[in-house]
Amino acid sequence: MTASSTFSSRISPPEDIDAAARALLDGALVVLPTETVYGLAARADDPDAVQRIYDVKGRPAGHPLIVHVADGMAALAGSWGADPLPLARSLAEEFWPGPMTLVVPRGPRTPDIVTGGQSTVAIRVPSHPVAAAVLLRMDELDPAGAPHGVAAPSANRFGRVSPTTYADAHAELAHRLQSRDVLLDGGPSEVGVESTIVDCTGDLPRILRPGSVTAGEIAAVCNCTVDDVRDGVTDIRVSGSLPSHYAPDAQVVVSPDLQAAIALLMAHVEAGARVDRIGLIAPASEPTPEGVRRLAAPKNSDDYARDLYAALRRADDDALALVLAIPPGADEGPVDAVIDRLHRAAAPRS
Ligand code: AMP
Ligand code: MG
Repeated sequence: MTASSTFSSRISPPEDIDAAARALLDGALVVLPTETVYGLAARADDPDAVQRIYDVKGRPAGHPLIVHVADGMAALAGSWGADPLPLARSLAEEFWPGPMTLVVPRGPRTPDIVTGGQSTVAIRVPSHPVAAAVLLRMDELDPAGAPHGVAAPSANRFGRVSPTTYADAHAELAHRLQSRDVLLDGGPSEVGVESTIVDCTGDLPRILRPGSVTAGEIAAVCNCTVDDVRDGVTDIRVSGSLPSHYAPDAQVVVSPDLQAAIALLMAHVEAGARVDRIGLIAPASEPTPEGVRRLAAPKNSDDYARDLYAALRRADDDALALVLAIPPGADEGPVDAVIDRLHRAAAPRS
């Protein structure tokens, strides 16, 4: 159950969940399946354990982490968080457990290393049954310490594609873990992109990172307009807001439609690229040009979000040189989140 080399595609049984909860309480790391992506978890009130997340991921210091808890309402007020505004409570009631992270004033329990020294903290209640069971088990094993929280960024090396399966998380990090650390298998992540992050410290909710909960869904709950500061200037540091992120080794080019993609393809082939080293991620309605490797054919933006990261990883597994991506068409789902991740995957690396 520790860093094993077998890719059993089995959901971790209760004894593994118990062992993971104990490992976290003891200050070890756990690869934790969630509904968004696989996380690398450490107990959030143990700065040494949290430091290992930064070391294992190669994540620069000062990038704040999300605290994941079982009891969201208890966490919001007077422990991990403090003095949540009514807005935060409404969003928590509507969207927790689920892929929604709320930024609220920081509470006494949260150490500097989790917030990057900021006066706010990001909190989420995951809905994945394995993640939920681990968090619940921590509270059962040590009720005096409840509500326990784990910091859990995506289980990948910094800047790389987030893993959405056990095999991908294992390939990414197992060799960097210790024998006391635990890897859990929860099957493929259903959402596939990171949570929506909403700053709830001002008058209006502000989306700091788009996810599968959309601006429209948030506006409907708070009955207000929703700020989207992704492209604006904010004093809040959001790690997913770096221009290049979620990037495979293959070059990613986002193209508005297939015709433009084919023109790009021709230009690459004329410049000497081999067609069989080019991949395509595009809505199912788009055909696959001759010789090109189809990496994903999502029917809608929900499918696109779920399949995107695995498709980018497959491009690297197959040593493709170039991935052409045609964004999803407009629908009710996480179109913004998919387009955001595509643009970051395609952004020039520094
Ligand atoms: P991840 O790497 O997916 O865990 O991302 C964590 C995200 O939460 C990053 O984008 C952080 O910047 C964001 N985050 C965590 N804490 C805060 C905070 N106090 N204020 C604003 N964003 C935060
Ligand atoms: Mg990440």
